Amino acid sequence: MEDYDVIVVGAGPAGYAAAIRAAQLGMKVACIDESCGKDGAPTLGGTCLNWGCIPSKALLDVSHKFIDAKEKLATLGISTGDVSVDVPRMIARKDEVVAKLTGGIGALFQGNGVTALAGHAKLLARRRVEYTPRGDEPRTLEAKHVILAPGSLPVDIPPAPLDGEFIVDSAGALEFSAVPPRLGVIGAGVIGLELGSVWGRLGADVVLLEALDDFLAMADRRIARDALWEFGKQGLDIRLGTRVMGAEVRDGAVQVAYQDKHGEHTTTVDKLIVAVGRRPNTEGLLAPDCGVNLDERGFVYVNDLCATDAPDVYAIGDVVRGPMLAHKGIEEGVMVVERIHGRKPVVNYDCVPAVIYTHPEIAWVGKTEEELKAAGEEVNVGAFSFAATGRALAADETVGMVKVVADAETDRLLGVHILGEQASELIAQAVIAMEFGAGAEDLALTMFAHPTLSEAVHEAALGVAGNAIHMVNRKAARKVARKTT
Ligand code: FAD
Ligand code: NAD
Repeated sequence: MEDYDVIVVGAGPAGYAAAIRAAQLGMKVACIDESCGKDGAPTLGGTCLNWGCIPSKALLDVSHKFIDAKEKLATLGISTGDVSVDVPRMIARKDEVVAKLTGGIGALFQGNGVTALAGHAKLLARRRVEYTPRGDEPRTLEAKHVILAPGSLPVDIPPAPLDGEFIVDSAGALEFSAVPPRLGVIGAGVIGLELGSVWGRLGADVVLLEALDDFLAMADRRIARDALWEFGKQGLDIRLGTRVMGAEVRDGAVQVAYQDKHGEHTTTVDKLIVAVGRRPNTEGLLAPDCGVNLDERGFVYVNDLCATDAPDVYAIGDVVRGPMLAHKGIEEGVMVVERIHGRKPVVNYDCVPAVIYTHPEIAWVGKTEEELKAAGEEVNVGAFSFAATGRALAADETVGMVKVVADAETDRLLGVHILGEQASELIAQAVIAMEFGAGAEDLALTMFAHPTLSEAVHEAALGVAGNAIHMVNRKAARKVARKTT
């Protein structure tokens, strides 16, 4: 029987980070992954590198450049002439980015001494793993520690069964060979907004059918409201409070039947993306006697340190509780391995940044004002609009705001919420501040370079105590007015 110090199941961001770190710490490591790329060959990097974060951002970035060239540059004094998009080239370039990064994981495995095994893994009792290479007989491996990182899969809904051509999931929506003139998306969540934006910018008429009455229910209410308005201006037709009843392919198009408070409707689209969430991928993963349990929602049950109910078996990433985000999985992978090695790191689940890569971007860390108030907490809030910063105005990127929420008694930062250009980068400042336990005053007393978008973070932090500089302070103005009259 082949034996290892650590066997990792899954080479997505959670699994590959765990495998690499374990090898760096001197452990003998195997990482098993069953994914194959578009060419049918085994691939590393999981959903994130192959069908998730990276390919979606490649298309988002290109489509943003396209819409800028088409609609914005002329207003800034740059003539471009006619602008068009070559979709097959755009997709091929996205595939090149994916190949470079997935190949990079292979190189990191090789360089760090991780054994990559292509095929399916099933956890047996006592940390043994049944490994089935593709088209070959299973064999049993043994490890001192097993880390499960099998990720997640898209949720299907019966009224809109996928056919891979007209009705697709997020992976299918990264592969369209032409811009669909009419695009339907079920679910106005993160994937719906990002992929709806890609194809909408390239010319599709996009309708998003969202079940909830609230838009982006997990985000700050003011930011969600402003974002909804902006996306509407960009042409995303977001219909809230809808229930999809059926989707049928007829004459090369999809007829989608749905209900809302006004009654029953039908809309016809050329492609339909189903983006209603993801579920933990535990298919064929666990032998009945392996000792690992699932929670009531089908996630692998773990404690705060990602330990399962089976001794020396851990689970990380999308397959366990918490947000389904690559960076959360990476940190869990590193934490588990470092703890196996005898160190004592923890993952701070209160400081997981979330980003939606639309334009403007939406990013946040910590809790919303509404969540905190509903829990009975007293908070002070500072908000600052990008329109009042010189750099945003110079760059013609004035939409959005920064909102800082702090504990009313201790001033400790509890949440930071951003809608705006580069929100994905700006939010890191808030994550660092919160990770260090900063108060709003700590940010307020920090010097920020001028002119930058970051100054909006500074001003919002100053605003928590009513001290923002580039803002009319109505209370102070009234006081002065009273004294001088
Ligand atoms: P995965 O990346 O899903 O990897 C799991 C791997 O395990 C897969 O390769 C799978 O084949 C393999 N596997 C599963 N079971 C077995 C088995 N039994 N035997 C062998 N191998 C197995 N997150 C972000 O943070 N930022 C983003 O911008 C972002 N964008 C996204 C865009 C899209 C369109 C999608 C779909 C997701 C996006 N995500 C994003 C989410 C992110 O991709 C996931 O959170 C992340 O990939 C989860 O990592 P993981 O390692 O847990 O699982
Ligand atoms: P999501 O949870 O973000 O959004 C799904 C949306 O679909 C929700 O608004 C939900 O109310 C709605 N919905 C559910 N059932 C519905 C139905 N029957 N009809 C209409 N609407 C319905 O999930 P997602 O967009 O599928 O993305 C899955 C996960 O992938 C995300 O939660 C996130 O963790 C990850 N992801 C992250 C990023 C990022 O970090 N930028 C990007 C893409 C995906």
